[in-house]
Amino acid sequence: MTDFAERADSIAELDAAVSECRACPRLVAWREEVARTKRAAFADQDYWGRPVPGFGPADASLAIIGLAPAAHGANRTGRMFTGDRSGDVLYAALYDVGLASQPMSTHIDDGLELFGVRITAPVRCAPPANKPTPAERDTCKQWLVRELQLLENLRAVVVLGAFGWQATLNALPSAGWQVPKPRPRFGHGVEYDVNGLRLFGCYHVSQQNTFTGKLTPEMIKKVLARAKSAARL
Ligand code: SF4
Repeated sequence: MTDFAERADSIAELDAAVSECRACPRLVAWREEVARTKRAAFADQDYWGRPVPGFGPADASLAIIGLAPAAHGANRTGRMFTGDRSGDVLYAALYDVGLASQPMSTHIDDGLELFGVRITAPVRCAPPANKPTPAERDTCKQWLVRELQLLENLRAVVVLGAFGWQATLNALPSAGWQVPKPRPRFGHGVEYDVNGLRLFGCYHVSQQNTFTGKLTPEMIKKVLARAKSAARL
């Protein structure tokens, strides 16, 4: 797997290569079982059922890093945060701050474009209960490392949630950014400089956070607007 990630010379090659990855037996079995059994509401749809590549232009200067695809969201549609409630919140906020062409992300051919933003995740296959194991996170790390290396214009990163935060800090040194010691701590609204890269923390856009009001649309938009400015978008 590592060889496949390192061999990719462009974001397009990386996206194609990651879609073929089968390195984590538990996640391969789960993503494919979900794609076979489906949720009743989507029974007539063909699920993607594979690793989900990042979404957004190869010259993006801002990256948004989440956790992992949702079983009936990105694992169904094949595009990050597409077709689920978390994505509804995230894309509406991106649209409101001028980083997306439309506020909804329903399926892979819906015409949505991102402006200077690339959305990705440290684990590319949907995990049971949204909980990848540390070993799965570590196995998937090389894909994130290579993506960060290939995003040559990258200036800022927004990380959604503590899991993504730790995974991003683990990946950055291998991608060429030395992480300060002590390691930056995750929190909503925190901002750090990592050798010229601006790193922002934001609570994850999960229903658990957005339905309870822990994370409001205004809170997301504030972080995105600051990151947009740091990324010179
Ligand atoms: S989680 Fe990552 S490393 Fe594991 S099978 Fe999916 S794409 Fe491959």
